Amino acid sequence: MEKRIIKDLSADELAAAMAAMGEERHRAVQILKWLYQKGAASFAEMTNLPRDLRERLDERFVVTAPRLVESIRSGADASQKFLLETADGALVETVLMEADGHRTICVSSQAGCALGCSFCRTGEGGFERDLASGEILDQVLFFKKSGYLPPRRRFNIVFMGMGEPLLNMRNLAAAIGILNLEAGFGLGEKRITVSTVGIPDRIRELAATDLRFSLAVSLNATTDESRRRLMPGSRDLGDTLAAAREFARARRARVTLEYVLIAGENDSDEDAGRLAALSSGGPFKLNLIPFNEWDGCEHRRPGEDRIERFIGLLLPTAPAVTVRRSQGRDIGAACGQLRCRRLSRG
Ligand code: SF4
Repeated sequence: MEKRIIKDLSADELAAAMAAMGEERHRAVQILKWLYQKGAASFAEMTNLPRDLRERLDERFVVTAPRLVESIRSGADASQKFLLETADGALVETVLMEADGHRTICVSSQAGCALGCSFCRTGEGGFERDLASGEILDQVLFFKKSGYLPPRRRFNIVFMGMGEPLLNMRNLAAAIGILNLEAGFGLGEKRITVSTVGIPDRIRELAATDLRFSLAVSLNATTDESRRRLMPGSRDLGDTLAAAREFARARRARVTLEYVLIAGENDSDEDAGRLAALSSGGPFKLNLIPFNEWDGCEHRRPGEDRIERFIGLLLPTAPAVTVRRSQGRDIGAACGQLRCRRLSRG
């Protein structure tokens, strides 16, 4: 019998597997706690399970963990980037950021990305495959197990690493389910943010689930024409914003609109005016991110004067505006950089 990867099972699937093995439901809760709270690397460690159950689990399932390939620490701030290798050799980037005592893990949902945004290094490296839900959760477990997250301290998860999470819906939903679960990571909507280029149907689908997370839409432009130039995989701007409004209404929460400011592309006075008009009166927050330059990319970060003027033009009418001065600039925090470097070394 081919063994299944146990971390790829949702909580319901694990409960069903226990029932199929003639076990009571609480065994599934015990296993979840061992996997996600204690970081168990084998069934043998699960000492409050009967020995014969541990043996039967071992015959049917496997507990996997990624291998650390490389890491880089930023000299300028507390961010640190890690390249992990999955069991079948896929390379996955994940980043730990720290600001004001809060730790945030930026996780990847795919190995590579097919959408090819012109400002993103991941798109340049191409698409390899979706990550399984266990491989998404393994990124969080990596930090927990290697001591980067102090015990009992809360942390945040952002799906802003490699890949478009809404193109990997099933595994995204299974991973968020375990992140939400009390027997898993116990994180609510304020601690988990899913960032997407905006796929209207999928946003509507997620709004109808009981998964708890916040939504961020990567807007980056104020017309369909300039948006498609920067993000060839983006969908209709009007429909994307309509879906974001529906999500906000269903969740009674605001959706973040992210806007990477790129010199000469989307930072004009007219852009600021259109962005203010698109967002004012809506259930939105604006997050401006001055572009983080990387070798080989033609885009440039606007000067500080331009950034300040852009903010000044937004402020009278736009909803809450924050500016994220990207962490990890000196380690090339543009996602995908470590993976690209590895792949190009062959
Ligand atoms: S920004 Fe996101 S969606 Fe665009 S290429 Fe990069 S990983 Fe893919």
